[in-house]
Amino acid sequence: MSEQIDSAIAWGSSRCSEASDTPKLDAELLLAHCIDKPRSYLYSWPEQLVPAEAWQRYQILVGKRIEPTPIAYLLGQREFFSLNFKTTSIALVPRPETELLVETCLELCPNRAGVDLLELGTGTGAIAISLKVNRPDINLIATDISTDCLDLARINASDHGVAIEWIESDWFSAIDNTSLFDMILSNPPYIAATDPCLMRGDLRAEPLSALSPGENGLEALQQLIVSAPAYLKTPGYLILEHGFDQQTDVARMMRKQRFTEITCQTDLNGLPRLSIGRLTE
Ligand code: GLN
Repeated sequence: MSEQIDSAIAWGSSRCSEASDTPKLDAELLLAHCIDKPRSYLYSWPEQLVPAEAWQRYQILVGKRIEPTPIAYLLGQREFFSLNFKTTSIALVPRPETELLVETCLELCPNRAGVDLLELGTGTGAIAISLKVNRPDINLIATDISTDCLDLARINASDHGVAIEWIESDWFSAIDNTSLFDMILSNPPYIAATDPCLMRGDLRAEPLSALSPGENGLEALQQLIVSAPAYLKTPGYLILEHGFDQQTDVARMMRKQRFTEITCQTDLNGLPRLSIGRLTE
């Protein structure tokens, strides 16, 4: 049995409402994906029949959506910084608030050739690749503890035609500290292991190790802030994404490591999301 496009959307939207705040959008994205058409096609041809095979696939994807599986994993891609990235369940889904990290890094990046950047915990590679696409002249090393993530990041880099040095590393462990960087950046895991949000919605389907570093949520941030000075040139910048309530702790930890000019930027929701520290000595 087959269905019209408009009734397939209504069906999917009602099913997805159990798991998603944007059920209609989710249903439309999944249906467009299954019939291999842009979303606009759905509005132009609401009475078209969905081919039987696509209708079957759509029902399966809607079923997965309500498990829940994030839309980005079902579509296998996510847009970030106006670029498309292959996205699978081995890595965190790139998030709009993280675009702030890329924007800030591009703003602060010295305007000369040969700037050295290090991104730690790259996941899909979205941050590093967005930087390199926009500043092809920078030297960029990006790390992840997971070889699977590095394989995914390499595919994304090749899709965008950029060259980045990918290193398997547990934060700084495999980084040679005779090579110093102008900027170090990271979107580390920062959700406390006890935070109930980890048990809700799409976060349940994302890799826990990319979301939560441990008990209080500050463990990875602390480790990065303590280690970074040994790998930074002076002047050099450390730029870190963090939780909306971690700004004070991050600033305190940065001051302790002699970072100065510490500033915090707010995300699209007006929440403190990014802290920047400058090392001058
Ligand atoms: N910003 C993400 C969220 O709250 C968490 C990402 C992270 O831990 N780095 O869903």
